[in-house]
Amino acid sequence: MSMAERAVVTGGAGFLGSHLCDALVERGMRVTCVDDFSTGEPANVPPAVELMHADVREPLRLPPSELVLHFACPASPPAYLASPVGTLETGGFGTHHVLEEARRLGARVVFASTSEVYGDPLEHPQRETYWGNVNPIGPRSVYDEAKRFGEALAFAYRREHGLDVGVVRIFNTYGPRMKPGDGRMLPTFFAQARKNEPLTVHGDGTQTRSLCHVSDLVRGVLAMADSGEAGPVNLGNPEEVTVLEVAKQVIEVTGSDSEIVHVGAMTDDPRRRRPDVTRARELLGWEPEIPLERGLRLMARET
Ligand code: NAD
Repeated sequence: MSMAERAVVTGGAGFLGSHLCDALVERGMRVTCVDDFSTGEPANVPPAVELMHADVREPLRLPPSELVLHFACPASPPAYLASPVGTLETGGFGTHHVLEEARRLGARVVFASTSEVYGDPLEHPQRETYWGNVNPIGPRSVYDEAKRFGEALAFAYRREHGLDVGVVRIFNTYGPRMKPGDGRMLPTFFAQARKNEPLTVHGDGTQTRSLCHVSDLVRGVLAMADSGEAGPVNLGNPEEVTVLEVAKQVIEVTGSDSEIVHVGAMTDDPRRRRPDVTRARELLGWEPEIPLERGLRLMARET
């Protein structure tokens, strides 16, 4: 159990941030959610949480806190592709502002990085020691490189200012409160299955994904918060499935009559993605517990 009593969650009105707010409130902490509501919704945030409407790209003042979970960032391809420069600004200026405030407050920070820092990986599964294969100028680079810069900034703050910051590299996570219609695979598949419309699989569907249920992810982030570890630490579920298999399972758990259709592959869409979670197990005593099929059944019930 953390000793921290007050926490800030940036991006706390979004999918992951709101589940983190829930978990921190459950721990009895006073929580402030900092969000510009660009993709998140105030309705996602539990009533006990104080809402602070702010864009982290602008300098901001955070309330006194012992813990800052920095999750504010457009996260789905349509969201970050709609605002390429804004995404780089959020990852760069936004992370800088949040780290600077955490330094002033003497807070521990957990920075939400991503498996996208591995790009289209040449090493499989991905361990934290792998430096990645990112196209620095492709359309997706605004997200990938912003997160890589955020990691660099976190480690620079640690070295130069002794900031107590830890980096988690989050792999694809799913669960309730994913924004429908934002192009992410599972909400899209669920919406299509519910309407008995064809599920649209990009490319031939043999590309793989490793999908982590949000409750497992939240446990991992809090374990990182409670530790003094710098990371980076992969958080994700190593169970690797093809996108085609995911589509079939969604059809099954929703009892849908949908078929599967193939549409064009996405630019720089990674072929394979699978976390090696040895480090999380060794440093944090964490591993995911919810297999995909059970997680999809939970999601079918809860969304
Ligand atoms: P989300 O879009 O649901 O949440 C992001 C939140 O940040 C939203 O509430 C949005 O309004 C807010 N936000 C965006 N830009 C902001 C700004 N400039 N100032 C203030 N608030 C801002 O996405 P999510 O899936 O919950 O992702 C949360 C974090 O986790 C992101 O940093 C994302 O990169 C990271 N992540 C998520 C996944 C995943 O599978 N969901 C995987 C890897 C990394």
